[in-house]
Amino acid sequence: MKVIILCAGYATRMYPLTLVKSKNLLQIAGIPMIDHIIEKLKRLPIDKIFVITNNKFFNDFQIWAKDKEKIVVLNDGSNSDKERLGAIGDIKFVVEKTEDDEFLIIAGDNLFEFDLIDFVNYGRKKGITIGIKRVEDINLIKKYSQVILDQNGKIIYFEEKPENPKSKDAAICVYYFPKGVLRKYLDDYLNQGNNPDMAGLFIQYLYKKVDVYGFVFENKWFDIGDINQFHYANFYLLSKKLEEKFGKGYIYFFIAPGRVNIIGEHTDYNGGFVLPFAVDRYIYLAVRKNNKKIANFMSLQFENDIVSVDIKNIKKTNTWADYPIGILWILKKQGYDFEGLDFIFESNIPIGGGLSSSGAIEVITLTALNNLFDLNIEKTRIPFICQKAENEFVGARCGIMDQFIITMAKKENAILLNCNNYQFEYIPVNLGDYYFIVSSTNVSHSIASGQYNKRRAECEEGLRILKNYLNIKTLSDVKMEEFEKYKDKLPELIRKRVLHVISENERTKKASECLIEGNVKELGELLNQSHISLRDLYQVSCKEVEIMREESLKIEGVLGTRITGGGFGGCLISLIHKDFVDEYIKKVGKNYKEKTGITPEFHVSQIVDGCLPF
Ligand code: ADP
Ligand code: MG
Repeated sequence: MKVIILCAGYATRMYPLTLVKSKNLLQIAGIPMIDHIIEKLKRLPIDKIFVITNNKFFNDFQIWAKDKEKIVVLNDGSNSDKERLGAIGDIKFVVEKTEDDEFLIIAGDNLFEFDLIDFVNYGRKKGITIGIKRVEDINLIKKYSQVILDQNGKIIYFEEKPENPKSKDAAICVYYFPKGVLRKYLDDYLNQGNNPDMAGLFIQYLYKKVDVYGFVFENKWFDIGDINQFHYANFYLLSKKLEEKFGKGYIYFFIAPGRVNIIGEHTDYNGGFVLPFAVDRYIYLAVRKNNKKIANFMSLQFENDIVSVDIKNIKKTNTWADYPIGILWILKKQGYDFEGLDFIFESNIPIGGGLSSSGAIEVITLTALNNLFDLNIEKTRIPFICQKAENEFVGARCGIMDQFIITMAKKENAILLNCNNYQFEYIPVNLGDYYFIVSSTNVSHSIASGQYNKRRAECEEGLRILKNYLNIKTLSDVKMEEFEKYKDKLPELIRKRVLHVISENERTKKASECLIEGNVKELGELLNQSHISLRDLYQVSCKEVEIMREESLKIEGVLGTRITGGGFGGCLISLIHKDFVDEYIKKVGKNYKEKTGITPEFHVSQIVDGCLPF
């Protein structure tokens, strides 16, 4: 038997997330979506699995398939949604490339718990068979295809996306074809000029020509059409794992985004402005009370490393879990009362990748405790408690920006935060035809934390000297004229650091105005100036970052690019015109890889809400 998994779509409903990555390769519950399907195929008598994709993502699928058995990745040659062959066109593409056989066809965005063995056995007995799912809400049928079966399981009615559904049976894109039939019917269907796009339309045509049977699947099924379905599937699979590991109980769900700082780098600990937004990369948490005095922590990113602590005596574990454990520790210390819990995390925020997976895991943990035990902690206090936990328990000297934006963020808005008095303002982000694209160098040099502490000390030294001449509390209180007047009092290195802080602060305020006005050109220019200042004055860039930036600026449609985050690796943020995203990914990706040997990652950012219950 041969399997065809359909992965050549462009998932336009999930743009811009799926502009740079195939939907079928997005991570769900720790592994690429398609791997959940491959897992289901393991017990079937299969000789080949054809994964049909498009030219745009062909390379990514080849990398994914490396070292995997039986998988053949095929390229349908299309480059955009406009050129797509459609589901039926793609099935034909595969069938023409291989000798005839029985075929099992599966949409690459359908996740399911049911076993395929019974399905295939049924098909072998009856003939052409499609999967059927009984939905609870008849209105859902409008989005799918409706099917009516007779007593023998034969389809007697089929309608794609019916306006007035009459039954709750939906057809799902899991098909079985015995040997010798698929090619003929495909040819007939397509030669008559029928729509090659929707697989359901082919079945709607087919059942009138030949007997087609429906096999009703009982277990859970997901059709990942949009981001909500995607979140939902993640939470469902997480809750299953939680039950498997720790037993049953009422489960609560929370979601928290990552963080990108548009501009205002190394200003936070100098009492200056930052301008971050919450980016659509997420950490997911399923959590329940366990009625014990123990907190258990599991992460799908460290699956074999389950960590438990006695909540009456919370100690550092020197594991990944110290970030969430720190939250329990600080809450106890501040006199809050709570009982034992089981936590399970899943995340597509790269860990240590500069989008603050640490801030996200802290905020989500605190938000969960606040909700589950009615701690009545005001939202505006959450970031400060998290920061304290990271400073005092984990021992990392972080500022407030990450936890602040991850808690307080509002969709389509950045936050202009004054790190001196913590006053903040929502800044509507008006980019018109432009996106922020985040390019990850996928390096983080180990000198980063040492250099970070050094920069902080240098700024403190600069402040100490300038305080002799000026009435200031932080470096951000220094005006540019004042700096000019007293700069000779500073040693050369310190002078450079201080100049960065003062000028970056000015740029950050200007940038927030550009966002409101939609002045993308000037915003791009500010990003460039910020980068140059970070590179030459603050000296926190590195070779890989410079290569990425140089490649990025070669792309027409890029208005500006700068390093974002602490430095010495991590990510760059660029402002790019929508029409140039494909070219950017292709060229910058290729050239960066050639020059550094490292595969980069790109993310076209959506600006989303902060941490919430789901
Ligand atoms: P980042 O730039 O991503 O914030 P950090 O080094 O500051 O990098 O924080 C990363 C740490 O956060 C990890 O080492 C781990 O302890 C914790 N962490 C974040 N996300 C997860 C996750 N999904 N699972 C487990 N630990 C996580
Ligand atoms: Mg961090």
